Amino acid sequence: MKKLKFTIGILMIMLGFFGVIWQRKEQNEIQSQPVPLSNKTSFMTVADNKSLTVSSQKVQIHVDPALYSTTVETENDYVALKKYPNSNSTTIDKLYRGEWGMYLGSQNGWIKINTNDGNIGWVKKENTQITTSLRKVNPTLTQLKVVLDAGHGGIDTGAESNDGTLIEKELTLQTVKKIGAALEKIGVNVVYTRTQDNYLALDEIAEKSMRESADLFISIHYDKYDYDNGMNGQTTYYYYQDDKFMATVINTALANNLTLGNNGVRQGNYFVLRQSNRPSLLLELGYLNSDRDVAIIKQTDFQNKVATGIVAGLRTYVNELEANK
Ligand SMILES: [Zn+2]
Repeated sequence: MKKLKFTIGILMIMLGFFGVIWQRKEQNEIQSQPVPLSNKTSFMTVADNKSLTVSSQKVQIHVDPALYSTTVETENDYVALKKYPNSNSTTIDKLYRGEWGMYLGSQNGWIKINTNDGNIGWVKKENTQITTSLRKVNPTLTQLKVVLDAGHGGIDTGAESNDGTLIEKELTLQTVKKIGAALEKIGVNVVYTRTQDNYLALDEIAEKSMRESADLFISIHYDKYDYDNGMNGQTTYYYYQDDKFMATVINTALANNLTLGNNGVRQGNYFVLRQSNRPSLLLELGYLNSDRDVAIIKQTDFQNKVATGIVAGLRTYVNELEANK
């Protein structure tokens, strides 16, 4: 057993040595995408801050912007996933532009991908953009970079409480600052999408998370139902299956810290989750048009409890990764 551990240790050091060189090359490639294709779909390397990273090739569904309008959804917003690499083959699925899948290979101008729904098929090469994505393996808290997004802002005010005293864009900014301060206290590297009352387009938000190589992106929101007092509680959303575990851990920690009802973890097709290849969650921290929730949200320590919950969740997440090594 000891000998095995020693051998693994030596292997890790060697991997690290070659990894650093490879990593430098890698970072340049990310900036000048698309990355040249290879048959490798993943590769272990060591990042500059000494955490082991796994690199994988991901495919983003691309549609020429001239073909779609951002206000109305049409057929041009989707790309067919074919069973075989030819146009006459059966369409297995339709993928939304901007959606990510795993790269599996290429053949005669077609790219083979594994989609988020677990469908394996082919997309025309001109409808794809291939990027190398890095994820840290078993990171410590101080190696984590968390990108915090305060939902809405500027002209986009978001939801409002029934009495008009709480405005979502203001609450999200206050909450994000509390979460950020709590994360920084335990050594997590925090980046904000906004720190003031300004409007950011959704694609800028997703871009920022990817540019920062976020280990976790969290978008903070407060909910609103179709009619007043129709719904209450906190909900945690993820989009990619890979993020479900992280969503569950964070949601459990929030449920333990908040007196709001908990609606559990749900898959949500939100732009900021779907368009990013970083681990991403969207938290709805109670309904602003629920008087019951607002009474809790208004409590002075509510936002601190949210921050405590996220810190606890992140600790659990890191420990679980360590335990499952
Ligand atoms: Zn919102």
